[in-house]
Amino acid sequence: MNTLPYRQTKIIFTIGPATNNVEMLSKLLRKGVDVCRLNMAHADHEWTRTAIENVREACRVVGRKVALMMDVKGPEIRTGPLDEPMELERDETFDFLLTPEAPAVTTGIRAVRVNYPSLKNDVGEGDTILVDSGLMRLRVEKVMEDRIRCSVRIGGQLGSRRHINLPGVHVNLPALTMKDRADVECGIELGIDFFALSFVRSGDDLDILRRFIEERGSKAQIIAKIEDQSAISNLDEIIQASDGLMVARGDLGIEIPFETLPLVQHRAVRACQRMGKPVIVATHMLESMISNPLPTRAEITDISNAILEQADCIMLSGETTVGKYPEECVEVMNRVIFSVESQSERTINTELPLKTPKSLLLRSAVTLSDELPHSSIIVFTRSGFLARTLSALRPLKSPIFAFTDVEPVFQNLLLYWGVEPFLMDFKDEDPEQTIQDAFARLRSRGWVESRNHAVVISNVLAGSKVIDTIQYRTIP
Ligand code: PEP
Repeated sequence: MNTLPYRQTKIIFTIGPATNNVEMLSKLLRKGVDVCRLNMAHADHEWTRTAIENVREACRVVGRKVALMMDVKGPEIRTGPLDEPMELERDETFDFLLTPEAPAVTTGIRAVRVNYPSLKNDVGEGDTILVDSGLMRLRVEKVMEDRIRCSVRIGGQLGSRRHINLPGVHVNLPALTMKDRADVECGIELGIDFFALSFVRSGDDLDILRRFIEERGSKAQIIAKIEDQSAISNLDEIIQASDGLMVARGDLGIEIPFETLPLVQHRAVRACQRMGKPVIVATHMLESMISNPLPTRAEITDISNAILEQADCIMLSGETTVGKYPEECVEVMNRVIFSVESQSERTINTELPLKTPKSLLLRSAVTLSDELPHSSIIVFTRSGFLARTLSALRPLKSPIFAFTDVEPVFQNLLLYWGVEPFLMDFKDEDPEQTIQDAFARLRSRGWVESRNHAVVISNVLAGSKVIDTIQYRTIP
């Protein structure tokens, strides 16, 4: 029997000091995480290698696989290292130093370095600089050759390497920095399945990453993280150029007025569904559980909303990197997913443009299966297209069991709403045997029972021709 009941919404967790060991990773796998995210803002290559080894070992121990997502930082600005944290006082004058040579103290004014010398070309007097997820707010007073002089509007404790946001400012950093390129090369070598690119501003940013990974022979998919106003303005072209979207609410909620965030999330999720691309709702889903064993009511409601919107994945960040209760967080997500999915009333996705007879055939398969009790959709796919389209159609209640003999396709499908992928050899000379093997696999793992209905989507040989078919079957 499989130990994890079927669910449509997938769970991504971020690996960090709290979870980077085989024992804890095995627990998370048993609870049902689907994708492991590595955040390269905080990881070097040695750490990344060890983390991936640990994940793969845990997969072997548990007998379940997860996909690997590398989150590359893109055009991110950070403050430099500090020996001691600094307490910024309201109304104090404070400098951001642009060059290593710039003297740190001039006439008693305190300062920190930033990793972006061209900041002076992007900001002007009156602009806002936010530090550490917007906890500190500074106003630009004067742009100088070697520094940006500011006044502190909201003070706070400044630690090492804090993230800087410049709301409404177009930053002229390249979409893929030198560090990103080195990180992606390391990720390709380690067999990463998804690269998530931070601060995507246009479709071109994604094309640059796609060329980079394709030139290196990787079949990894690309997730666009939308984190600022330019991403919202160019949403459709970004979705088009990506393989999926992440609503990165941490930075997005700083870069745009926070009261607009729920509607932006809603629109981004809807746009992805219209265009048949997967979407991840990320950040602060169970923030309070970083230090508490139980979620707040508001967090449960936030997770429920993402499930009701039919996001493909919900994501854990700090909760599983540094939190005290990573296992409990996955448990909470599971409980909310099961509760909401079993009760929600919805229709299949009628907005998806189905341009080919093959796509229309898939819609018929979904309708047929959804009308039958205890039915599932069983699909055989080598490129993943059939399973991805079935997922985008959002069947009402039929599980999508996707069989493939291509490992990267299997790994990619782990992220898609409603898809339970299986890696299995196909008997090309005997398609019927392949179907029987799939039935046996599903039955032995407890996913289906004898006499259940099944709608099978497969190729069959008709004379010398291969044709696409949907077949009604009962599980033997
Ligand atoms: C976010 O900002 O919500 C996010 C997911 O990105 P990061 O964790 O890289 O800041």
